[in-house]
Amino acid sequence: MAITTSLDGKTAVITGSNSGIGLGIARELARAGADVVLNSFTDSDDDHALAAQIAQEHGVTARYIQADMSKGDHCRALIEKAGQCDILINNAGIQHVAPIEDFPTDKWDAIIAINLTSAFHTVAAALPMMRKAGWGRVINIASAHGLTASPYKSAYIAAKHGIVGLTKTVALETARDPITANAICPGYVLTPIVEKQIPDQMKTHGMSREEVIENVMLSRQPSKEFTTVEQMGGTAAFLCSDAAAQITGTTISVDGGWTAL
Ligand code: NAD
Repeated sequence: MAITTSLDGKTAVITGSNSGIGLGIARELARAGADVVLNSFTDSDDDHALAAQIAQEHGVTARYIQADMSKGDHCRALIEKAGQCDILINNAGIQHVAPIEDFPTDKWDAIIAINLTSAFHTVAAALPMMRKAGWGRVINIASAHGLTASPYKSAYIAAKHGIVGLTKTVALETARDPITANAICPGYVLTPIVEKQIPDQMKTHGMSREEVIENVMLSRQPSKEFTTVEQMGGTAAFLCSDAAAQITGTTISVDGGWTAL
């Protein structure tokens, strides 16, 4: 049977997609023909304009649905409002950098809620739709920090390791359905979440911006290049293709060799 990469007729819900990797993935899935649902916790004209721009550029339906991924009922409501969810991209994420003994409890709770627990809720709401449609793809955006650790990022690393574990469980629970569940593990991608870490890292390490990028961020990325949002989108589109129908319960590293070290 010929391998198809077209996503015509599929609806993709991408959490946390009004910037960065989520937006890059939404654009690539729309390019492949999918209707897309963008999301974040805000509800601005700019958010809706992003959806309109994608719709116009790719000739697909694109909507923006506000939902706060730190709240379980919002996560489930996002999927219900989407009405159809063939492709679920759990991407929303935040970061905070501090030694464990100074790590604020509210930051720990927010990171676990947004980066991990949200995926439990969206998957629970989306799987019945995927089973009914007879096709589905769950793609969780983990991180090289879902496979390895670094100091000062305890909550993030716990959440990212957690989402890798959740991915494997979803894959096993859907193994006999035409549904797959995988995690993409990027190295550093230059997006707002990374930009925001630079001042904290400069303070923690007593380094300049350039030194943080070269010696801290890309120190473990042997390619010495940031991953791009387009590469993230292309990897997600591949996981949605027929070629990837037997790829499930695994992680795909897009990290310039980080996890080979
Ligand atoms: P980003 O800050 O550009 O995007 C994060 C997205 O999540 C934004 O759209 C933001 O609005 C949304 N978001 C935050 N809190 C939310 C909430 N409560 N409800 C709904 N949406 C919320 O960052 P990014 O780099 O594009 O990160 C996207 C994902 O990729 C995250 O899960 C992040 O951990 C992961 N990741 C990023 C990198 C990197 O280097 N940029 C590396 C590995 C993993």
